[in-house]
Amino acid sequence: MDQTTVKGEKMIRNRQETDKPAIEGGMPVRETKIYYGHQYIDEADVQAVVEVLRYGDLTCGPKIRELEDKLCALTGAKYAVVCSNGTAALHIAALSAGVGEGDEVITTPITFAASANCALYCGARPVFADIDPETYNIDPQKVEEAVTEKTKAVVAVDYTGQSAALDPLREICRKHGLTLIEDGAHVIGTKYKGKANGSIADMTTFSFHPVKTVTGGEGGAVLTSDESLYQKLLLYRSHGITRNRDLMVHEPEGAWYYEQVDLGYNYRMTDIQAALIISQLDKLPMFSRRRKEIVARYDEAFGRLPSLFVQREIPESDTTRHLYILRIVPEKLAIDRKQFFDALAAENVCCNVHYIPTYFFPYYEKLGYRRGICPNAEKLYEEIISLPLYYAMTDEDVESVIRAVTKIAEYYAAE
Ligand SMILES: *Cc1c(COP(=O)(O)O)cnc(C)c1O
Repeated sequence: MDQTTVKGEKMIRNRQETDKPAIEGGMPVRETKIYYGHQYIDEADVQAVVEVLRYGDLTCGPKIRELEDKLCALTGAKYAVVCSNGTAALHIAALSAGVGEGDEVITTPITFAASANCALYCGARPVFADIDPETYNIDPQKVEEAVTEKTKAVVAVDYTGQSAALDPLREICRKHGLTLIEDGAHVIGTKYKGKANGSIADMTTFSFHPVKTVTGGEGGAVLTSDESLYQKLLLYRSHGITRNRDLMVHEPEGAWYYEQVDLGYNYRMTDIQAALIISQLDKLPMFSRRRKEIVARYDEAFGRLPSLFVQREIPESDTTRHLYILRIVPEKLAIDRKQFFDALAAENVCCNVHYIPTYFFPYYEKLGYRRGICPNAEKLYEEIISLPLYYAMTDEDVESVIRAVTKIAEYYAAE
């Protein structure tokens, strides 16, 4: 689907498009289409991968340990366990937290489905707590209200890359004996109260999918500073099998000996992916800087338009934004979100929507979830569009997105 490009090249891709002409049949603000996200791959990345293919182990090799050490250095966490993707990371985190049959896991509906699915994988029930209407992150007050005897863990998402309210959430988890899992798929590069996200919750998961800030094609990680959680994560990543003498039940029968002591999975990452992620992480400061610049420019431009609401930043979070959310103020516009989205596409600005509330999906409906449980989340979903935000955007790209949004907002301003 996505074609790899480096900075400056045009992207030719085939995605959802509309045939609607630009406003009044006029010229679109851009000649070429721009999409909401794209990876940035440079020659160093290519070389890193080629080197593994030429000389390295393809899996379970030294690149895995190197990446884990690098993630610890980046975040200040004591341990990192890299795995096949962010969803696998959430699954082994939930298992390591002891989530099982009959338990409840509290999470937000404004996220990718995996944040809740990880509870279902373990036989537990996701419980949705509503978001703060201005930061869009899970509201700690609503989490507290959702805690029951059955609650085992909270999965908090750093939506768009802005840190969830980790201190209040940690306090609630401490009080009720719950494990705080931070779904940090968006958060790499962000700091909460001066500390990198990844060193604060009981466990933090990362994703290295190509739309995320740093990519490995696919890939994930769990960060923790708890030694016993770390040992469990290692087991669940690889079949529940161990060569660690301390974890074995029987005497080793020889040098070949290993034991399966629990039921785990094959969620290992390849050294090919690890090499790419290591190389990408060298560019994280540069990625962060550029994303912050673009966000500042968007905020400045859209903050002036009465028909648009700019996401509120919490002062505790020094944010590297993964997503930029344009939010319309419906009373101030003659068109709705869908019409705004289509009008942007007609201007060659091809966006996305993050996210459809998880419990709207038919699978969740079948499990008995009904609309209406998180009104703030449902209202947000009606009003949002994810604008293009990625490192390789040129200043001209950014300005053209601003021109398109401004043109539509002004043209369709309510009387
Ligand atoms: C991308 C994402 C995931 C899943 O990560 P994968 O690596 O694609 O499995 C989980 N949660 C959130 C919030 C995400 O954005």
